[in-house]
Amino acid sequence: MKSRREFIKIGAVGTAALLTQTACAADDKSEDNPIIATETIAIKPIVLSTWNHGIDANKAAWEILSKNGTALDAVEQGVRVTESDPENQSVGLGGLPDRDGYVTLDACIMDHNSNCGAVAYLQDIENPISVARKVMEDTPHVMLAGDGAFEFALEKGFTKTNLLTEKSKEAWLNWLAESEYEPQINSENHDTIGMIAIDESGNLAGACTTSGMAYKLHGRVGDSPIIGAGLFVDNEIGAACATGVGEAVIRTAGSAIVVELMRHGKTPQEACEEAVARIISKHKDLTNMQVGFIALNKKGEYGCHSVYAGFNIAVRHTDFEEMVDAQYEMEW
Ligand code: ASP
Repeated sequence: MKSRREFIKIGAVGTAALLTQTACAADDKSEDNPIIATETIAIKPIVLSTWNHGIDANKAAWEILSKNGTALDAVEQGVRVTESDPENQSVGLGGLPDRDGYVTLDACIMDHNSNCGAVAYLQDIENPISVARKVMEDTPHVMLAGDGAFEFALEKGFTKTNLLTEKSKEAWLNWLAESEYEPQINSENHDTIGMIAIDESGNLAGACTTSGMAYKLHGRVGDSPIIGAGLFVDNEIGAACATGVGEAVIRTAGSAIVVELMRHGKTPQEACEEAVARIISKHKDLTNMQVGFIALNKKGEYGCHSVYAGFNIAVRHTDFEEMVDAQYEMEW
């Protein structure tokens, strides 16, 4: 296993270590001197998100968490920032389209009472996470897809929006010229935002939203809207979220597995590592099979891990805000 920076111990040992470890990162001694804390104290509120776009998303979530708001509101408002950013080409507005030029969005949300809502293959709506929340709160169902999800969104007051920006259209046209119309998986064509949080009351919630794998087959749905794959929350135990090749995450029930591993005593870090090991063991061909997991337990301990190098997460807590490079199993 490789690591660009030994942050992981912080998730396993509690607040004292968390804060000390953060301080140690600056003088770069942490690789050699993992810190052992003597007690574990609940850390809350706290929010973590996948990838660099998590920094801005966490800011919006923190606005809510720091004012005693709910984790549910925080994760919804947090990921909406990324969905509405036209420069971000892997989520919401400006997302890269499928191979036929359609931007199709997947999202799900889950709260501390195991309520959940999801939308899949949704087009022309900028904030699918908020539609997913409406599915959760206003219907007896968990998931709506395609035209039905779109009609439902309009009924709920969402407006029809063209999500294909000029920049993404140009990227798609360039891809068409070179690709022979074959969907490809590589490190550049995906980057979901997944966010998990604990609020001041100690409740957990999570959200996951994406435009999915770029230039995918029309109609393809990934892991991100699937409860138990892209996201899972169990308020007694913890929460987990996935990013990367959705097919691999679905195949292994990725986020549900991470939470179940924590239920059976694994730290968030250990749980993410074992879920990554499961992905590796279930795939003969690991070419471009990047998957990353993030996990948070009820105590506010967290971890992350990925198959390949390059995955990172944004963390926000009362005392600090930082980007952390995940440990990983393989170089590209
Ligand atoms: N998991 C997403 C999907 O497969 C993409 C990603 O996270 O990069 O649609």
